[in-house]
Amino acid sequence: MKFAFVVLFSAVLAFAYGQANLPAAQPCDEALCKLPHCRCSSTNIPGALSASNVPQFVLLTFDDGVNIGNMVLYRQLLKNRFNSNNCPAAATFFVTHEYTDYTMINELYNDGHEIALHSISHRNSMEYWRDASVSTMMSEIGDQRSQIAHFANIPVNTIHGVRLPFLQMSGNSSFQMKAGAGLTYDSSWPTIAFQDPGLWPYTLDYRSVQDCIIPPCPTASIPGPWVLPMVAWTDLSGFPCSMVDNCYDHPHGSDDAAWYNFILKNFERHYLGNRSPFGIYVHEWFVRVNPGLWKALQRFAGVINNMNDVYMVNAKEVIDWVQNPVPNNVYRQRPCKNLLRTQCLPNICGPLPAPEGEKNYYMQVCSRCPSRYPWVGNPLGL
Ligand SMILES: [Zn+2]
Repeated sequence: MKFAFVVLFSAVLAFAYGQANLPAAQPCDEALCKLPHCRCSSTNIPGALSASNVPQFVLLTFDDGVNIGNMVLYRQLLKNRFNSNNCPAAATFFVTHEYTDYTMINELYNDGHEIALHSISHRNSMEYWRDASVSTMMSEIGDQRSQIAHFANIPVNTIHGVRLPFLQMSGNSSFQMKAGAGLTYDSSWPTIAFQDPGLWPYTLDYRSVQDCIIPPCPTASIPGPWVLPMVAWTDLSGFPCSMVDNCYDHPHGSDDAAWYNFILKNFERHYLGNRSPFGIYVHEWFVRVNPGLWKALQRFAGVINNMNDVYMVNAKEVIDWVQNPVPNNVYRQRPCKNLLRTQCLPNICGPLPAPEGEKNYYMQVCSRCPSRYPWVGNPLGL
């Protein structure tokens, strides 16, 4: 009787947390967890390199829909920008489906930027994301991979990463989905406890030491996907912020000198420290409404593009380096990454009936037009 009760109780618990059959992660064992496929969560530099030999990666990311409203800024900031090794500077775009112009995704991809996943619906509910099961994650994010590849006409195997809406994780389920879908990394998990020195990317084979800012965080052993921690910035009052637009006490909107110093101060914590990747995680609208930030970003990019140990690269390239760490002098001799270019023959589609409500949508794609507006559960709009 007692045994049956225990079994039933654990089954209920496992069901409630969606963690059935998942082994709890154990403390990390450096002797067993080795690159390229396993790394303990730590601030140690991969490959035990000394900081002065490590390429400092700068990760510029933008979230949400890509359309003509924000593409103007992306083009101005990123076109014809090169790192000091003469390879194109790159950014990462965590894209949502709604209000995305897929012909512009094609353009960003062909300019060498990384296209990553940020859900189909971006539903405006923290609870929805917090409680999302593996199958919800699969239909929101796993399916979005084939959706973007189809409508933007880009190779599906160039889409590797995920950032969850509102940085709201759902315990193990999103990582189970990533492992199942063969996705490489997640960049949704902020840290304020490992800001200085910063936390380097790691895997979830073993228990993470990372602080859980927006619970629930994963607790199981889930080999495969990497965590690319969002190391927080510090605002002018000393408070942490995981995205630039979350910094409460930031420079005045038009004061570009103050914005430049603000970026530089946060950058130096990484560059003069353990050189963990420096993230500039921001939404385009925030840059647009703060013209000082806009100018400061261009100035900062210009400066680092001339430094021989700093590189603006996309998130996947950072994971690649962590898996096979080499010193800066070796890294900068490498040939630039080879891009498989694709074409876009634009189609304007619509009006397309919405899945919910009366709304009609128009969308621009590089494929044939869908017969209805694509959505969760019907990502190709069949
Ligand atoms: Zn978002």
